[in-house]
Amino acid sequence: RFLAVEGGDGAGKTTQIDLLEAWLTEQGLACDRTREPGGTPVGEKIRSLLLEHGQGEIDPRTEALLFAASRAAHVVQRIEPALRAGTWVLTDRYVDSSVAYQGLGRELGAEAVAQVNDWAIGGLQPDLTIVLDLDPAVARERMAARGDGRADRMESAGEEFHARLRTAFLDRAAAESHRYLVVDAAQDPQTVQAQIRARTEELLHG
Ligand code: C5P
Ligand code: MG
Repeated sequence: RFLAVEGGDGAGKTTQIDLLEAWLTEQGLACDRTREPGGTPVGEKIRSLLLEHGQGEIDPRTEALLFAASRAAHVVQRIEPALRAGTWVLTDRYVDSSVAYQGLGRELGAEAVAQVNDWAIGGLQPDLTIVLDLDPAVARERMAARGDGRADRMESAGEEFHARLRTAFLDRAAAESHRYLVVDAAQDPQTVQAQIRARTEELLHG
């Protein structure tokens, strides 16, 4: 099974994947936990390149193609081989992040970014995409409160930018609701996790 966890910065993706991975592993399932951009040697180099140059420094189309390139390598070199071996794959971000950040955030258009990515992934959709939905102002406060430097970066991108991302994730989920779970990430982490596990359970037995 292939699961993706999506959402804006500070929504709690990392925490929720940690908890989900622990639960699946406890049940004796082989799990490969990965992230984007990254997940392969080439992908991690692309990640460094993207992070090094920061938000807005790389031309939007170049940026979108770099994310898509990292994703293509990820699918072929890591996700598909794992799935073939019967391993569960949990990824921190996938196509939805590109549609949100590059498509809506950087205004390339959701359609164009979705098309490039459909090509990059060769049609490999997650069995389930979990969207952690959170008001960006709350996310920024949370990161600031724990001293996470990304709060500043979020601040500099602006409220409007992050509001667009949130809409993008929710629109994608609404358009393909059978393959998505949207969770209110303002709830406490254990409650969020319980909702994720309840839905994942269906995949376990389905
Ligand atoms: O998931 P993580 O927080 O590690 O991602 C690193 C940063 O890359 C994010 O803070 C986000 O701003 C940015 N990003 C992006 N476009 C994507 C995915 C992530 O700009 N498609
Ligand atoms: Mg994270």
